[in-house]
Amino acid sequence: MKRKQIFIMTLAVIATVTSTTTYIPAVDASTSSYRQAKTSLHLRQGASLEQPSLTVIPTGIYVTELSKVGTWSKVQYGTKIGYASTKYLLTDEQIGGKRIGHTLIANKNLALRATYAPGENQQARAAFEKMRVAAKKEGITLVAFSTYRSYAYQKTLFDKYVARDGYEKASTYSAEPGKSEHQTGLAFDIGGADSTKYATFSFSKTKEAKWLFANAHRYGFHLRYPSGKESWTGYTYESWHYRYVGATLAARLKVSGLTMEEYFHLAPWKPVKVSTP
Ligand SMILES: [Zn+2]
Repeated sequence: MKRKQIFIMTLAVIATVTSTTTYIPAVDASTSSYRQAKTSLHLRQGASLEQPSLTVIPTGIYVTELSKVGTWSKVQYGTKIGYASTKYLLTDEQIGGKRIGHTLIANKNLALRATYAPGENQQARAAFEKMRVAAKKEGITLVAFSTYRSYAYQKTLFDKYVARDGYEKASTYSAEPGKSEHQTGLAFDIGGADSTKYATFSFSKTKEAKWLFANAHRYGFHLRYPSGKESWTGYTYESWHYRYVGATLAARLKVSGLTMEEYFHLAPWKPVKVSTP
């Protein structure tokens, strides 16, 4: 093979690799029925309460409903297949937001149901702990100072901000109930050793924020509201707000430099111009 040919082929390979890392994959076209356990739920060997439990399905994690047997659903959770009571399995409709594959999106356009209350996500907490321990070894202190927030709590919070700053300003840094990612149990507000910098712009200048920016994706966390993406996310830069998406997606998002809205071809948040007469 001639040198020039090899060079062209190499270019083609680079182009392919580049396009697979920055190309945005199409939305999961699978028609499987995804469900989430309403409360921690036994996955049983058969369709009866007398059947032995194979494992417990935690809340906030998608399982696949394969079929229905009376009031029971045949469910796949990870590599295990068993049965769970259908009435404790939430549908996409009951969850709200938008599901793409196994990823739940909540933003200013996609609100979660008021009744969706999964609590803090166990996988996200385990990933955070792993990250915290790894950071500690490098002399970095990480603290998750706010994780799961219920619909009711977010309502209290948002109402308080609106009373203080007005709706328009409050909306730039806080979410209306149902639209907060914290309700998914997957959002972790992370701070460092200095608690006075929690949820403030000054946190972005700390070594902890820099460490997170460089490493969080390796533990499955995505910087959800980056600087310069306000028109997509609807939020000002939050150097402390990380969303657990799993290591695979977090790595893809990191390489792409995209927000979840851009990556998944979702509608951007468009600020409404209010003209005063
Ligand atoms: Zn947050």
